[in-house]
Amino acid sequence: MKKFEIAVIPGDGIGKEVVPAALDVLQTVADVHGGIQFDWTEFPWNCDYYLEHGKMMPDNGLEILQGFDGIFLGAIGNPQLVPDHVSLWGLLIKIRREFEQVINIRPAKCMKGIRSPLVNPNDFDLIVVRENSEGEYSEIGGRIHRGEDEIAVQNAIFTRKGVERAMRYAFELAKKRRGHVTSATKSNGIFHSMPFWDEVFNDVKKDYREIESAAFHIDALAAFFVTRPQIFDVIVASNLFGDILTDLGGAIMGSIGIAPAANINLNGKYPSMFEPVHGSAPDIYGKGIANPIGQIWTAKMMLDHFGEDELGKKMLEVLEEVTADGIKTPDIGGNASTREVANEVCRRLKAL
Ligand code: ATP
Ligand code: MG
Repeated sequence: MKKFEIAVIPGDGIGKEVVPAALDVLQTVADVHGGIQFDWTEFPWNCDYYLEHGKMMPDNGLEILQGFDGIFLGAIGNPQLVPDHVSLWGLLIKIRREFEQVINIRPAKCMKGIRSPLVNPNDFDLIVVRENSEGEYSEIGGRIHRGEDEIAVQNAIFTRKGVERAMRYAFELAKKRRGHVTSATKSNGIFHSMPFWDEVFNDVKKDYREIESAAFHIDALAAFFVTRPQIFDVIVASNLFGDILTDLGGAIMGSIGIAPAANINLNGKYPSMFEPVHGSAPDIYGKGIANPIGQIWTAKMMLDHFGEDELGKKMLEVLEEVTADGIKTPDIGGNASTREVANEVCRRLKAL
């Protein structure tokens, strides 16, 4: 029996609705499989916890989390109660940074039964590997001369190690998929960092001769997300470019409520963290209509990360059957509840 210890943080708002739904699905997957077991421990760290304790998690929160195989997170944030920068930096960003989750991955796929805003959404299925720790999002820079002579300087940091590990991750991922990697660059406009990015990409690809590769400037690449997303398999991008592409990826799928994500630790010292793209959605919290697909798909990514790809594949197939048959929450045009969708996914998994 393979055992996985999972720290569960439902968080705020609809996180508290979609996480239990996704855990039911995970439990069903374990029951059906017979050879794996999930042991989860739930932590009530959220904005309510902050109001009571003055912090988002206990001082030894990271130590507590460190021993787990994975962290399964719902959503953090309740701007009515706690400013977003306090709640996000007090938990989410702290975990990402301290646990060296240097890669962020987000798939975008055309799902049966879900209307994409694209004119030609047929069968796209891509995944963005975003460098999650450096690049354009640095704290280096500054401002001088207030007033009309004011100048702002913002430095981007690209290290060979940081860029190379993101690229290797992308190539390894492509081996398990359709064998194609696209690099998001802008070396025709960004003078130092992007030619460096290209160089590292060209070096790394020599180790993966079986994988096809291409490099696109980010502006053209973003346009192709809209006009021809079918041409992409794995895309590797810097922190800023990846941030923009992944939101665009969510948008072309048709609803933020179905988009999954993972923050990956590569050195094995700390757990990785799995959280859907959407936030706590205070506007629909308590109504029982939050779409659980993003959270369930995120659980699938956790299974992939644990090496249980076959199970993950089945989960995604079942999700797609359920949406194709119209058992959908209101955000994607249906009238089912969070529970009804999750129950239907469980029922079909049991019937496999
Ligand atoms: P945060 O600040 O917590 O990241 P946000 O306010 O930027 O969140 P979301 O909370 O993701 O963004 O909500 C954006 C919109 O999408 C809201 O109208 C919300 O109701 C809707 N939404 C988000 N997630 C879901 C979901 N799982 N199911 C249905 N609708 C959702
Ligand atoms: Mg918000």
